[in-house]
Amino acid sequence: MSIDYLLQERANSVLVGGVSSGWNSFPNFGAKHFNQSEGAYIYDVDGQKYLDYCMGWGSLFLGHKPDIIKNAFNEAFDIGFGFQYETEYHVKLAELITELVPCAEKVRFANSGTEATMFAIRMARTKTGRKKIIKFEGHFHGVHDYLLFAMDASDRLGQKMLSGEIEPISGSSGIPSDINELVIPVPFNDIEAFQNVIHKYRDDIAGVILEPILLSSAVIFPNIDYLKTIRDICTKEGIVLIFDEVMSGFRGELAGAQNYLGVTPDLATFGKILGGGLPIAAIAGKSEFMDVLRPIGNAEASGTNTGRVYAMVGAYHVLSHLRDNQQFYNTAHDLNDLFCNGVNEIFKHHGVPGFANGYAGRIVMHIGTNEPCNNFRDAVNTWNKSYHLKCYEQAYNKNLYAFLLPLLVCPEPITITPIHTKEDINETLNILESIIGHTPYLES
Ligand code: PMP
Repeated sequence: MSIDYLLQERANSVLVGGVSSGWNSFPNFGAKHFNQSEGAYIYDVDGQKYLDYCMGWGSLFLGHKPDIIKNAFNEAFDIGFGFQYETEYHVKLAELITELVPCAEKVRFANSGTEATMFAIRMARTKTGRKKIIKFEGHFHGVHDYLLFAMDASDRLGQKMLSGEIEPISGSSGIPSDINELVIPVPFNDIEAFQNVIHKYRDDIAGVILEPILLSSAVIFPNIDYLKTIRDICTKEGIVLIFDEVMSGFRGELAGAQNYLGVTPDLATFGKILGGGLPIAAIAGKSEFMDVLRPIGNAEASGTNTGRVYAMVGAYHVLSHLRDNQQFYNTAHDLNDLFCNGVNEIFKHHGVPGFANGYAGRIVMHIGTNEPCNNFRDAVNTWNKSYHLKCYEQAYNKNLYAFLLPLLVCPEPITITPIHTKEDINETLNILESIIGHTPYLES
């Protein structure tokens, strides 16, 4: 009997569902236990090696166990590991973020993307004195009650109304239906729907939050004119525009998707790559929007674990390392293209309707249509889940971890980092070629 199997049995009796985070339990397989990692590889307790396509849910841009983080731990420990007071590193990290990110004049740290978006919408409400938030279908902003609507964990898609908005379906039990009143989901890349909703709720809308490039699901780029129009409308109506860059931040370039797309929000949230795997997040923005926070204003955004020294030192070194080694970004884009072109060739060669689309290594493999999707609903409605599942099971058994991972209503994108190699990608493409070649395509 494998050590992993025995650990799973023990885990099942003391951890809910055998896991510490619901997401760690993969469809059909549950959770494995690992005890070693290096670069882009993880090793389970039985010594089996896997190529990791999850990479800390997209946070381990410098790979598993980079020296940068190891050294940062030692340095932080010398300073004072657990105190919560300010250090020079807090200032240096904030200075660096304000140098790099267009919207960032000031910064407040947090521990997770969930916390950061929760605080950001509180700040928008404080600034405007209004209460409704517009979000976009399929965009994920963490698991707090206020934005967990109209995304993959919702068990069905909400009805699309003539007024442009989408019925808010929550992605978890236990979220009071009263909160539905506070969130207005709209379809991405549909300016008419957005304008209609603004027209209808104008004086009640505090903020608009979106992933500037949808990378947490489906991988969908915005139409640039659409994004610029949203920017203009928010400015005109006094609505706070928030870019959730928890996934896109520091991924394709240091200045984030806001720089790549040429649209500057009022506030932006960061996490994931910022800490290279350490628990840190940030809200950054223009001073007039940031200064609503205590101790200047009255909006609260604080916590026992906020600004821990090891996270500050680690994040500072991660960002500095990325700034000083811009070739990481060339590698991320090159590997992204190598992978997407390879997958698209394989689908074409075997007559499977599907495509790969990605940004700097956040890549979706969508099976069911050749047409790139314009919004989340298109992706959900065209997805061939049963065929996707068959391929996922085979990839899992070939030791590709979190590869072709199916979620409830759409596939989870993979994460390729600059630490993956061309050989890793080519080997994966060979495995995929064999899987697709041996799995006859059936319409779902
Ligand atoms: N926003 C986006 C865009 C994300 O992708 C995620 C996590 N996948 C979050 C927020 C939530 O971040 P966290 O898991 O750190 O709470």
